[in-house]
Amino acid sequence: MELKICHMYPDVLNLYGDRGNVICMLKRLEWRGIEASVTKLPIGDSRSLAGFDLVFIGGGQDFEQQVLLSDLHRGKDREIRAAVEDGVTFLAICGGYQMLGSYYETFDGKRCDFIGALDLYTKGSVKRMIGNYKFQCSPSAGGSIVVGFENHSGKTWLGSGLEPLGKLLSGYGNNGEDGSEGAHYKNVFGTYSHGPLLPKNPELCDLILKTALERKYGSAELPPLDDSFELLAHDEMCAKL
Ligand code: GLN
Repeated sequence: MELKICHMYPDVLNLYGDRGNVICMLKRLEWRGIEASVTKLPIGDSRSLAGFDLVFIGGGQDFEQQVLLSDLHRGKDREIRAAVEDGVTFLAICGGYQMLGSYYETFDGKRCDFIGALDLYTKGSVKRMIGNYKFQCSPSAGGSIVVGFENHSGKTWLGSGLEPLGKLLSGYGNNGEDGSEGAHYKNVFGTYSHGPLLPKNPELCDLILKTALERKYGSAELPPLDDSFELLAHDEMCAKL
């Protein structure tokens, strides 16, 4: 078995060590003897998304989101929409998650027209939503309790047919108002949770890997790993919150 991972816009969308999530996925595959490769697709790289099993997109500030717009609309927008509909697995974080939606309007009225791969939009607010937080994934996204860190001014609103990734147990999540966090559509996992999302949440990491492997190979069993350190970090933060 082998997973081909694409790290999209690693040059501009990589806040709080978001790329640690890619390292985490690679390690958890390697520890199980599953091969994997990572291809970076920075701004200006016109290689196609065809053939990738899993696409990772990190977060970025309003500035970086505006910088990548022209590149996005030179064809990556269509490719991402097609890959999403085709069941490719995506993990998209904060600014990258917002980018999959229809648009982002900054708090001072600048509009970024994004790609509409997910039925959601985001509007900036004056207040930043910052801090460690936790949420429970919906049953279709495994039901695990995830601890994360968020820092955004954007408030995201999901269209009526789009399921959130989970329900908040603390923090702000999508918009600080409706108790929802992230989005889960087909094999897309969108979340506001930055930084060490996957190292601290091994159950979610394995669900994402399994989703990509099952799409490619029909079925995939991931043998359990010794997650004592990971769970210590997870449980410690869970208790604090
Ligand atoms: N620029 C977006 C916001 O503040 C996303 C920020 C981020 O990725 N942390 O809402």
